[in-house]
Amino acid sequence: MDDCIFCKIISGEIPSKKLYEDDEILAFHDVSPQAPVHFLLIPKKHIRNIMELGKDDVALTGRMINKAQELAVGQGCGEKGARFVINCKSDGGQTVNHLHIHVLGGRPLDWPPG
Ligand code: AMP
Repeated sequence: MDDCIFCKIISGEIPSKKLYEDDEILAFHDVSPQAPVHFLLIPKKHIRNIMELGKDDVALTGRMINKAQELAVGQGCGEKGARFVINCKSDGGQTVNHLHIHVLGGRPLDWPPG
């Protein structure tokens, strides 16, 4: 999608610190990290948010979660864990309208969110 910053990261128009890439998924470090480990996983297909997922996306989202787990372990979060977050629309605090999973770790995180 033309005005989507994450689509521009996928195309290479905007640079990113990539962690992982395949035909369907891209993972990169968040530009404004909120924890020692903070990266994002996105589908290359432009899906605006989790409410717009269809039944055809089940395999894709399953792969994203498996990859999030694998990368979190690779970033040193295997023992103490991490937080896997999907913000959705305005009440969910979503600011980039391209589905993404945040993975945050490397320090204890508060709950509940403010
Ligand atoms: P959300 O608020 O859930 O939509 O999260 C969007 C995330 O994207 C925020 O944590 C931003 O810091 C991050 N972000 C925005 N632009 C970039 C970028 N160019 N490269 C990496 N992360 C970004």
